[in-house]
Amino acid sequence: MEFASMATVLRDALANHYAVGHVNINNLEFLQVAVEVAEEDHSPAILGVSEGVIQYMGLDYTVAMARAAKNQARVPVVLHLDHGSSFAWVARVVRAGFSSVMIDASRYPLDENIALTRQVVELCHPLGIDVEGELGRIGGTDDDLLVDARVAALARPDEAERFVRDTGVDALAAAIGSAHGHYHGRPQLDFVRLAEIHRVTSTPLVLHGGSGILDEDIARAISLGVAKVNINTENQEVFTSTVRQVLLGHDALYDPRKYLGPAKEAMKGAVRMKFRLFGAVNPASWGPAAAAG
Ligand SMILES: [Zn+2]
Repeated sequence: MEFASMATVLRDALANHYAVGHVNINNLEFLQVAVEVAEEDHSPAILGVSEGVIQYMGLDYTVAMARAAKNQARVPVVLHLDHGSSFAWVARVVRAGFSSVMIDASRYPLDENIALTRQVVELCHPLGIDVEGELGRIGGTDDDLLVDARVAALARPDEAERFVRDTGVDALAAAIGSAHGHYHGRPQLDFVRLAEIHRVTSTPLVLHGGSGILDEDIARAISLGVAKVNINTENQEVFTSTVRQVLLGHDALYDPRKYLGPAKEAMKGAVRMKFRLFGAVNPASWGPAAAAG
């Protein structure tokens, strides 16, 4: 396995009560930030790549850039498809070298969601590739994916138990009230539901839409079984607002490094704070002692 196993990384997080930050990649700078902060913190890096980003960067470029980062890193680097929409997309990234995929069949009725997710697991597991599934529907806008609040639905514990048992997924994105993109007001996470889903599945859980959730709510979710938190919107905002600030009133500035560099530094600060919040700083399994031993 070229890239690291997400299942291994998440099992360690679950056992040691921290969460790994899944940083969505939008360009080279995002990828560098994710791996550089992970290196500083001796934390695993999960590079989340959406289909839209693959269309933007090109699949070969995406894998080549991630490979370059991984070759230099001393921490595990997972290359993960975020919200894979079909078996064909999964097969495509698997062939290209991804170590982990999410199949998001949550738009289908439960039986169809289970069947497609199971099919993806059957393709991936013999190749040592890990699979994340989604149950319930996470609302909001992510990339080209738009789920209206009216059709967003929370995951049911009894269905979660069946979903995990029948599919064999390594991680479960269970909708518990978080959303992609911007929140209107304080997001209401259903912690009772989360605890029950964790109890009946004992699978690492994934919190999508991690941007904009209160720190205390994220910490509580991690204490109840969340082992991976996806962050994108907040990073995009920090990055873009920095570019905007630098360019504002500097009409003579034309070197991309002069605005992308500060944007990268600002995003690094934001990601660092998230990793700290997740407890993903020097987890014993990946820290200096583990590297030496
Ligand atoms: Zn998501």
